[in-house]
Amino acid sequence: MILVEFIYVISAALFALSLRWMGEVKASRRGNLAGALGMLLAVIATIISVGIHRYDLVAVAVVLGGVLGLIMALKMPMTAVPQRTAISHAFGSLAAALVGTAEYFQNVPVIDKFTMGVLSAEVILGYLTFTGSLIAFAKLQELIPGRPLIYPGRRFLSLIVLAISAICGLYLVFDPSNTYVFLIMAILSLIFGFLMVIAIGSADMPTVIAILNSFAGLSAVGLGFVLNNKLLIVAGSLDGSSGFILALLMCKAMNRSFTNILFGGFGQQQTSGEKSSYKNIRECSVEEAALILENSNSVVFIPGYGMAVSQAQYMVSELAELLEKRSVKVSYAIHPVAGRMPGHMNVLLAEANVPYEKLVEMDQINSEFKNTDVAIVIGANDVVNPAALNNKNSPIYGMPILKAYEAKTVFVIKRSMNPGFAGIDNELFEYPNVNMLFGDAKKVIQDIIQEIEE
Ligand code: NAP
Repeated sequence: MILVEFIYVISAALFALSLRWMGEVKASRRGNLAGALGMLLAVIATIISVGIHRYDLVAVAVVLGGVLGLIMALKMPMTAVPQRTAISHAFGSLAAALVGTAEYFQNVPVIDKFTMGVLSAEVILGYLTFTGSLIAFAKLQELIPGRPLIYPGRRFLSLIVLAISAICGLYLVFDPSNTYVFLIMAILSLIFGFLMVIAIGSADMPTVIAILNSFAGLSAVGLGFVLNNKLLIVAGSLDGSSGFILALLMCKAMNRSFTNILFGGFGQQQTSGEKSSYKNIRECSVEEAALILENSNSVVFIPGYGMAVSQAQYMVSELAELLEKRSVKVSYAIHPVAGRMPGHMNVLLAEANVPYEKLVEMDQINSEFKNTDVAIVIGANDVVNPAALNNKNSPIYGMPILKAYEAKTVFVIKRSMNPGFAGIDNELFEYPNVNMLFGDAKKVIQDIIQEIEE
C-alpha cells in the first residue's frame, strides 16, 4: 500500500533525526519527541498494513504497554535509568523473539533456507538478550548480588551453550521441520544470556546494557527480513549500531575492551562494606572549606554519581553563582563515565541551568588542574582515583581519570569511606592536599553556601 510505504519513510526519517537531535543537549527533547512520533506512526501504518481483525486485543496491548511505560517513566528516578533501559530491552527483545517463534511455528516446514537462517539468528539474539537484560536489571536494582559469579570453566560452559544453540540454528536451515531442535535452540539461547551476564559484575552493567542494546537491534533487523518489513530493518539497524557505538565509547572511556567486559569478571574486588585500609585521612569542617573557597581564584567542580543520588546539582549551581559574584573562576570537569550512564552529569547540570560552556571535557580540563586553586569532588570516586594511573594491579588501571589531585586544594564530599562503583579504595583520599567533607552532598554544599553568605 502506497500510504503505508509513505508513512514508513516518514517514520524512518524521524528515527534518524531523533538520534541526530538526541546527540545535542539543546535539541534532545525534540529528538525524544521525534522518536516517539516516529514510533506512533510506525505502529499505525503497521496496523493498517496487516489488516487486523481483533482491534480490541491491540487496544488492550497498547493501553497496558502505555500504562506500564508511563509508570516506569514517572516512578523510576534518574539514577535508575540504566536498569530502566535494561528492562525495556528485556521486553523489546522478548517481543522480537516471540514474534520470530510464532512465525516459525506458523510456517513450518515451508520455510526457505534464507528465512530460516535469519530466523534462527534473530531468535537466538532475542532470547539471549531477554535473559541477559533481566539479569542486568536485577543486578543494578540490587535484587541479586552485583558480584560476578565466577566458577572454573565458566567461559567454556557459556561458549559450549552458545555453540550448540548456533549448531541447532544451522541444522534448521537444512531441515526446518524439526521443531524440537528449534525449542532446544531457544532454550539454550535463554541459558546463554543468563550465564553471560551473571558472570559480569554490576560495575560493568551499563556497558553490558549498551552491548545488549545492539543485540536487540540486530534481532529486530533479522525480524524485519523475516516479516519483510523495511521499517523494522531500518529501526533495528539504527538501534543496533547506536548501541554498539555507545558501548565502544564507554569501553574507550574506561580503557577496557569488549572481551574484558564480557569475560573479565570485573568487580570481584573489595565491595562496599568490606574493610578498607585508609590510614591518613584529613577531615575538614564546612567553615574551613568556605573560607578557602572564598579566597580562591579558580574552582573546579567534579560531579559524580553521588551528586545524582543527592540531587545536589541545584545547590552546586547556586554555590558556583555565589563564587562567581566574588570573581572566582568556576568550571565543571566532566568525566565521560561519571555517574551511571553516558552524559549523566551533563543532563543533571543542564537541569540546574548551568551554562553549557562551563562544562569542560576531561582531556581539556586535565591540563588546567595544575593552575586550579580548589577542586571540589562532589560524590565522585572512581573517576578521580589515581590508582588508575599508578597501580598496575588495580581493576581500573588504564582508565583515564580527572587529575583532581593536581589542584592546590581538593575537597571530597561523600558520606563515608565507602568505595564507588568499582568497589575499591581511592588513593586520592590520602593525598596531603585532600580534605574530606563528610555528609550528603546537597546538605554539605548548602552549609557551605550558608557559611559564605554569613
Ligand atoms: P562512583 O565511583 O560510583 O562513586 C560515587 C560516590 O558517591 C561513592 O563513593 C559514594 O560514597 C558517593 N555518594 C553516594 N551518595 C552520595 C550522597 N548522597 N552524597 C554524597 N556522596 C554520595 O562514581 P563516579 O566517580 O561518578 O564513577 C562512576 C563509576 O561508574 C565508574 O566506575 C564508571 O566506570 C562506572 N560506570 C559508569 C558508566 C557511565 O556511563 N557513566 C557506565 C559504566 C560504568 P559514599 O557512599 O561514602 O557517600
